[in-house]
Amino acid sequence: MSRLFNFSAGPAALPTEVLEIAQAEMLDWHNKGLSIMEMSHRSAEFISVAETAEQDLRELMGISDDYAVLFLQGGATSQFAMVPMNLASRGKAAYVNTGVWSKKAIKEAKLFADVEVVASTEEGNFTRAPEQSDIVLPNGAAYLHYTTNETIGGVQFDYIPNTGAVPLVADMSSDILSAPVDVSKFGLIYAGAQKNIGPAGITVVIVRKDLLGAPLAGTPTMYDYAVHAAEDSMHNTPATFAWYLSGLVFKWLKAQGGLSAIEVVNRRKASKLYAAIDASDFFANPVAINNRSVMNVPFTLADAELDKPFLVEAEAAGLLNLKGHRSVGGMRASIYNAVPEAAVDALIDFMRDFEQRRG
Ligand SMILES: *Cc1c(COP(=O)(O)O)cnc(C)c1O
Repeated sequence: MSRLFNFSAGPAALPTEVLEIAQAEMLDWHNKGLSIMEMSHRSAEFISVAETAEQDLRELMGISDDYAVLFLQGGATSQFAMVPMNLASRGKAAYVNTGVWSKKAIKEAKLFADVEVVASTEEGNFTRAPEQSDIVLPNGAAYLHYTTNETIGGVQFDYIPNTGAVPLVADMSSDILSAPVDVSKFGLIYAGAQKNIGPAGITVVIVRKDLLGAPLAGTPTMYDYAVHAAEDSMHNTPATFAWYLSGLVFKWLKAQGGLSAIEVVNRRKASKLYAAIDASDFFANPVAINNRSVMNVPFTLADAELDKPFLVEAEAAGLLNLKGHRSVGGMRASIYNAVPEAAVDALIDFMRDFEQRRG
């Protein structure tokens, strides 16, 4: 068996240790004579798996009982609709636009809500986050939505916007669990699992309980957070295998020392990669230094003609999925929690070698 270094933006690398446990438990989970996938979601066994996963996530992130933790389906993309459907009855929906994912959230919210984009960095081609002073909320805002980490542009907020009493809503799909975060500053946090939580198919929503129960008229049952909160995310059949695997990732993270410990590794991985990019005239990253993403590192080659050879040779060297998003081109190295530091070291060595030979 050989597992190569995987820099995919999502579905992304999972910890090998986690996959080994899943492999060992695949046919016969805990001597029950069947796999976790084949069990009723209402069985005592699965409910204990589900509850343990929630408990471990609460511990990792320091989530208080004021918040419901939901394990839903439909991806972060469904949250683009679910957020306004559940929160916009209270007033204007304010959004910060920092790139591709913010834009999608804004577009979807316009189907349901009176949307105001209160800050945008589009003019600078999305290479930074706005300052706190750029974010001016309208009167009667129901919430402010922002994207903590733009997965495609590689732009990450280095602060949590202060919204006073207005609930703050965050799409944390690509940087949740990468570092400690003060959950009490947020009204709602959501994240698709396939970047830093687990496999595709599950979406985590952390929502302050006082925000539940006032959906827009006509909100479908499956899009009402209050329904999922009241039924422990089991109004219908949940994504049981993805939930189980996410639970294994939470255990793995706890064994790494939790979020403060993983943050140290993440910062070290990112800084050495950015340092290698900055040290060369051949590679470049356009993002403002303090907003450079710790999770997704886009970079370009001085000569775009060399993109293809770079990717072909990288793959031959065991470095997978470095192609940048189709909307921006170039390269992107996603270095989530499960991407080992050795992968980043190998990438840097490869980049230096490629530049010497072809640059
Ligand atoms: C990947 C991603 C999404 C979309 O997630 P899906 O689960 O595919 O719907 C949304 N927002 C951000 C920031 C992402 O990185």
